[in-house]
Amino acid sequence: MGEFACRACRGKTGHLVLDLGEQPTCDYFPPCADPGPDRLYPLQMWLCSSCGLAQLPAGATAPEERRGDEPAALVAHAGDAVRRVAATGLLPDGARVAEYGSPHGGSWLGLLADRGLTPVHDGGPADVVLDCFGLMHAADQPAALAERVARVIPGGVLLLQYQPLETIVRCGQWNTLRHGHYAYYSTTALALMLVAHGFSPRTAWRFELYGGTVLLAARRAAEASAGPDGTIRALLAQDARAGVLDPAMVLGLQVSERAQAKGLHDWLVAEHSEGRIVLGYGAASRAVALLRRAEANRTLLPAVADASAAKQGSRMPGTNIPIVHPAELAVCQPDAVLLFQPELLTEVRGAFPEIEAAGGRWVNVDALGYCATSR
Ligand SMILES: [Zn+2]
Repeated sequence: MGEFACRACRGKTGHLVLDLGEQPTCDYFPPCADPGPDRLYPLQMWLCSSCGLAQLPAGATAPEERRGDEPAALVAHAGDAVRRVAATGLLPDGARVAEYGSPHGGSWLGLLADRGLTPVHDGGPADVVLDCFGLMHAADQPAALAERVARVIPGGVLLLQYQPLETIVRCGQWNTLRHGHYAYYSTTALALMLVAHGFSPRTAWRFELYGGTVLLAARRAAEASAGPDGTIRALLAQDARAGVLDPAMVLGLQVSERAQAKGLHDWLVAEHSEGRIVLGYGAASRAVALLRRAEANRTLLPAVADASAAKQGSRMPGTNIPIVHPAELAVCQPDAVLLFQPELLTEVRGAFPEIEAAGGRWVNVDALGYCATSR
């Protein structure tokens, strides 16, 4: 395919490995009074054949991304990550640290300041340059990486945190594809990008966050006293086993997407045809593409409840499904509540005992796809 050029290496050969059709921005919830139609943009993932970077195709329209809340999981992870990295001596007392954060929150600077590191805010040089899911938000990948490496003083370290493409494919996380998320790194592709900027990976730490997250430490290649350690070699070997450079393997994301979208669609239609009332819970941005792909609407799903006052009175982007106060759940006495944030199951069961008391049940949206594929 010659229509795209890679954001990292400018290579022109590659494959579309995931296509979610036309999607709205997933973080702007229009007021119910605005019936739409919402602006839609193609949402696709392209895998470069030259360097292996999975990415939003260059030239795709990219709406502004809003700053989101800082999820509790990210806060807990930051503490764990800082402890583990500090244990290796890479975060010495008195070191200067520059952080490139994610628009979704999760800064480590407070934790690092507690350890005696000094944050650098003016774009100046630092001993430690830390990027937590920030780089993926840059449309111009080489420029963004060049800016980061330029701030690393001689002998300093660059720390990059990312969710490896291997995790995304293994866990079927097609829904991580978002407007504004330009790059989806395999360790292999990221290592090539670093080498192109005179850096090389030295070591890495793995975390359970999001099914598998990696924090990679890189230094200037010229300062190499040794090559990558065993953790890096293990990540590269895992990439090779998972086939993250092979478009046929990454296309598994599309298979996961079809299974989940069809599973949800078929379930909603079946519940509706039986006359059962289904409501949703959790107007999360990740529900946006799923609801569109499942061809959901307010007939099949009359409302999604959400605790955020800012979202109540709005509707889901790209569909006509309104967002309501959670108190509506008790009023409507649904037969089922479709939970779009399965990690909240324990919390919502405790918060809304009236659902199950009235004979209703909580349904994990992620489980519907697996049911569909096993049928
Ligand atoms: Zn490339």
